[in-house]
This record gives sequence, structure tokens and C-alpha cells, in this order.
Amino acid sequence: MQRVTVLGSTGSIGVSSLKVIRSLPERFSICGLACNSNLKLLSEQISEFMPAVVAVGDRSACDSSLFRELKSLYKNIEFLEGDSGIRELAGRPCDITVSAIVGSAGLVPSIAALDSCKRLALANKETLVMAGDIFIKMAADRGVELIPVDSEHSAVFSLIHNLEQDEIERIILTASGGSLRDYPVAELDNVTPEIALKHPTWSMGSKITIDSATMMNKGLEVIEAHHLFGLDYDRISVIIHPESVVHSMVETVDGAVYAHMGVTDMVFPIMGALTWPEKTRNSFGRLDLAKAGSLNFRAHDNEKYPALDMCYAAGRKGGNVPVVLNAANEIAVYAFLDRKSGYMDIVRTVEKTMARVAYIANPGIEEIFESHREAVDTALSLIREKKI
Ligand code: NDP
Ligand code: MG
Repeated sequence: MQRVTVLGSTGSIGVSSLKVIRSLPERFSICGLACNSNLKLLSEQISEFMPAVVAVGDRSACDSSLFRELKSLYKNIEFLEGDSGIRELAGRPCDITVSAIVGSAGLVPSIAALDSCKRLALANKETLVMAGDIFIKMAADRGVELIPVDSEHSAVFSLIHNLEQDEIERIILTASGGSLRDYPVAELDNVTPEIALKHPTWSMGSKITIDSATMMNKGLEVIEAHHLFGLDYDRISVIIHPESVVHSMVETVDGAVYAHMGVTDMVFPIMGALTWPEKTRNSFGRLDLAKAGSLNFRAHDNEKYPALDMCYAAGRKGGNVPVVLNAANEIAVYAFLDRKSGYMDIVRTVEKTMARVAYIANPGIEEIFESHREAVDTALSLIREKKI
């Protein structure tokens, strides 16, 4: 029996992770659960999985009557509070940690988990975007297996594990093109959160759904792939594939291209990460290629998706640049979702923030946090003062 901690258990990836764990009761039990404020869902998860420890990040949720009720109802469960509680839970011993908190808030718990688990199933791509060089080394030094959950990286991971680095010509990440792929560029300024949140193929949290519309998500994934697979940026390509049936591809030096196909449901890469290297029979559905019909591929349009090139440039420059890009994007996406700025302001905010925060070539972890805070403050003031 392997004990699993799920960080971000109430989110899209968290719920899918629990679905996989529920389907394999003889293999997995839950050790810890962490969320930010969704106590209603958390209480259902507690009563089903009876974890040893629970952490809730949001301080006002910890002050609520529901939180007090949960604590008095489950006297054998330890309840931890605030960011420090999330970090403490992540540092408690377990076999596998699923890192599925959204955004930059996931970095500190991901780092804490490296001291406590044997395998990290990494969904939080921001961990690698912000601190890839440091994080990969820390995982290797501690002997922690780092298994990607992001569907593209999960696909590449399973395709390349028998290949030598010099046999790989390049990897090709597929992108659905997001909710606005057929939207006229001239009208993008008028896009509302409702329109941008309608993802054509994947059901995900709101932040990543907006990132898919701008293709910032694919750009962050390019940086994630660079760190995970140790490939230069010119060996990582992106192609639009509207059906999302091919989850990614690997081209070998002899010109062959291997595609990983499957149903568009995150339970598959999550199950892959939990049970790697085994293939586990499951009842989560099968790909019906005859039903899928034709599969299409096309190059992306730079005018519609400037974020992708920005991410390549940020990744190539390295240092604290991806940290600043990620922080500014996070602020701009939530400002858009809160209707405080427009859709096209997302990329503009990122660009302007990147121009204002000083470059650091080899940031240590404290400098990464400082650059993140500086970029957050810069992006917030750009939006507040309407200087975008
Ligand atoms: P969601 O928004 O659906 O869920 C986020 C989770 O993180 C929730 O459990 C939320 O708790 C928790 N959380 C948010 N902020 C904090 C905080 N400050 N402290 C502690 N917990 C917090 O996100 P997704 O599941 O969509 O994404 C999670 C990660 O996985 C992201 O990094 C994303 O890029 C990555 N990913 C997601 C995919 C998907 O299909 N959804 C695919 C590939 C990667 P609460 O519910 O209480 O707010
Ligand atoms: Mg992905």
C-alpha cells in the first residue's frame, strides 16, 4: 500500500487524482490532503479518505465555523493552517506527493515535498518555470522520482524513456489552441471571461483555461519540458492540434515521429504518474479513433498567440526572466477574470512587467522569491494605474 498526499485536492487535478486513487483501493491510501478554502469539498474528501493530516491555506477559511466543526468531528486527524500549514503537510513523510496547487503558490510545497516523499507527481508546472534548474537538482540529490502529470509531458516521458538523449531530434508539444482559436484577432480585445473560459477539449481550472486561450500555458509547458527532459529550446516545438487526441510527439534522429494518443481526461496521466512504470487496466474509457475521425495539425499564428514566443524568449534568456513572466501572467489572468482588465491586457502586462524587473542571471531560491514579489507588485500597479 502506498501512501499519497494530494496538494490541491479540491482542484481539477486534485479531484481527478482522488478518482484514480478511489479506483485502486488495494494500492493507494491517502496520507494528507491540502486545499486553500473549499472546505465543503474538503469535508467530503475527509469523510471518504480519512487522511492522517489536512491543511487549509486560507486564514479566513481556518476561522470559519465549518473548519471548527471539522476539527471537533475528526479528532484523530491533524489539522494544519495557513501557508505554513500547507508547507508542513507537504513535508510530512509519504510515498507519493501529487503537487497540484495552482500557480506560484505551488512552489514552496513542491520543494518541501522533496524532503518527504519518494515520488513527486508534478502537475504544478510553475514549480519548474520558476525554479527549474534548482528544483531538478534538488530532486536528483534527494533521489526523488519526478514524474510529470501535465498531459503533454506525461506523453513525452513515456515515449522517450527508452531513448538516449542523442537519439532524440526534438519533441513536439501539441496545443488545442484554446477557447479562442477560431476567434478573429481583431475582436480579441472584446473577449469576456465567459468566452475565454469555454475550453474546446479539456476541462480544467480557470487559470490554466485562460492560459490555454492565450497559449501562455503552452509557453510555460515549453519551459517545463526544457527542465524535465534537458532539451535546448530549439529541440522543443509546438503544433496546434484541435482534437487533442495526440498528447505530444517525439521525433527521433532517423526522422520517425512517435505520437502518444489517448482520451482527453487527466485521470490517464495522473494514473500514469502514480503507477509508473506499470500500465494499469482501468475503466476510464477508451480512445475510439474511428469516432475521432480526422486529426488536424497546423502551425500557430503569432499574431493571435504572442505569449508563446514570449515564453521561448524568456526560457532562452533564463535566470529570473521566467519567474517574472509567470508572476505577471498570474496577476494579469486573475485581473482579467475579475474584470479589472481586458483579455489583450494579459500579454501587455507581462511584456511591460518583464521590461521593468532587473535581470538576474543565476538566481538562488531567495532571489527567485524576490523577483516573483517584485513582478507581482509591478504588474498590480500597472493594472491599478491603467498603464497597460
Ligand atoms: P484548480 O484551480 O482547479 O485547483 C487549484 C487547487 O489549488 C485547489 O485545490 C485550490 O484550493 C488549491 N490552491 C489554490 N491556491 C492555493 C494556496 N494559496 N494554497 C494552497 N492551496 C491552494 O487548478 P488545476 O487543478 O486546474 O491546476 C493545478 C495545477 O496543475 C496548475 O499548476 C496547472 O497548471 C496544472 N495542470 C492542470 C491541468 C488540468 O487539467 N487542470 C493539466 C495540466 C497541468 P481551493 O479549491 O480551496 O481554492
Ligand atoms: Mg498540458
